[in-house]
Amino acid sequence: MKIGIDIGGSHIGIGVVNENGKIIEKYETDLSNNQVALNNTNESNLNNEISLNITEFIEKYIIENIKKIQKNYNIDVIGVASPGTPQNGKITTMVNLGIKELDITNIIQKVYNGKIIVKNDAKCAGLAEKTYGSLNKYDDCVFLCLGTGIGGSVFINGKQLEPKRYPAFEIGHMVIQKDGKICNCGKKGCFETYCSIKRLKDELIQELNLNKEIMAKDLLEIIKSKNQDENVRRIIKEYINNLIVGLSNIIDIFEPEAIALGGSFVYFEDILYNELVKTYNEKRYAFNKEKLPELKLAILCNDAGIIGATL
Ligand SMILES: [Zn+2]
Repeated sequence: MKIGIDIGGSHIGIGVVNENGKIIEKYETDLSNNQVALNNTNESNLNNEISLNITEFIEKYIIENIKKIQKNYNIDVIGVASPGTPQNGKITTMVNLGIKELDITNIIQKVYNGKIIVKNDAKCAGLAEKTYGSLNKYDDCVFLCLGTGIGGSVFINGKQLEPKRYPAFEIGHMVIQKDGKICNCGKKGCFETYCSIKRLKDELIQELNLNKEIMAKDLLEIIKSKNQDENVRRIIKEYINNLIVGLSNIIDIFEPEAIALGGSFVYFEDILYNELVKTYNEKRYAFNKEKLPELKLAILCNDAGIIGATL
């Protein structure tokens, strides 16, 4: 058995994964605004710990769960899907939680002395979709994770491309607008400043004058009910047009057979996917118009990070 740990901007998931890539046991908790909200009633022993600072909480949560899992399973490897670019087994930037560095390898080694792998989360999710999910029929394909930012993973001839020096495939930081909106990375006009789901949500929340803390589920219902609202339609159309520009660049560079869209994009499928397919089929931006890659929706969703971390 393997353990996959997915550490996101506002969430931790820990799963026991079998040799067929199936999660057989899973523990999850939300982390948001430095306030730890425990949503797993089985974790009542941690309820007293909500005043711990966030780093201590993450450490305690991971250690307790690894200990618990090890009581029932023999673990061969522990994989971690980390946001950003992990270096030397450490997670270096967790912007949303305000953590500069988290030595996740050291934390895990306190209770486990086997093999530990730390990889970028979008690459983990891509590997899971390629191996067990929406991309498993394709040799040449691209996985795009549209969430807080945009991450990606590219496969050619069935192999995930992995450069020697840096992880690369910072697809979210491909410039799609010269002198455009400023990005967290310091450049202007990056793909993710126009097409992350976070950016889309922020724009819709502002347009509709909604509370910033609104749950995604409620936001989705409101948008659906305002389907004919001119400004809502304009924002979605603009989002899709920008997404097509990014997709067009990816298609012309890699000529994949398929592209899978994952992350919280999948959650907003109802309001985005049809519009995307319609615009995509107009083939305005494709160089090779005869054979556009298939557009897929990721199917492993929240589990992709956990599964991919163990691959
Ligand atoms: Zn950027």
